Amino acid sequence: MSLNVANCDRCGKVYVKNIHGLCPNCIKDLERQYERCIKYLRENRQCTIQELSDATEVPIKQIVRFIREGRISIKNNPNMTYHCEVCGAPIRENLMCEPCRARLAKDASMLKEDEERRKEQEKQKDRGSAYKIKERLQDRL
Ligand SMILES: [Zn+2]
Ligand SMILES: [Zn+2]
Repeated sequence: MSLNVANCDRCGKVYVKNIHGLCPNCIKDLERQYERCIKYLRENRQCTIQELSDATEVPIKQIVRFIREGRISIKNNPNMTYHCEVCGAPIRENLMCEPCRARLAKDASMLKEDEERRKEQEKQKDRGSAYKIKERLQDRL
């Protein structure tokens, strides 16, 4: 027997599982927060994320989630930015700023290169020792 219940990701209450991972109360609550944000953004084109959060009482973290989920568009709100997850620079899309993304991509390819270099070195070492054995054998002959 499996109980089809879980703890809400947001408020921790037990609820009957659904695809949102949230209890019905939180879903409704989020919906209201979302609507408040949309309305405020429409009426206050120049607002910052801090102003939006203060005015709507929606936590910045939640606003950022809305933006990342693509539910809130900030195209028309030039002052709306949030922080890059790595360096904290103001960004308007994705998780990270451009330089951090470029650096991360470089790190990833460097890791791969390192790995390949290491494998190559190991191969060389194997070849080297095989060669030495042959030499040693030849010495004995
Ligand atoms: Zn909840
Ligand atoms: Zn960054």
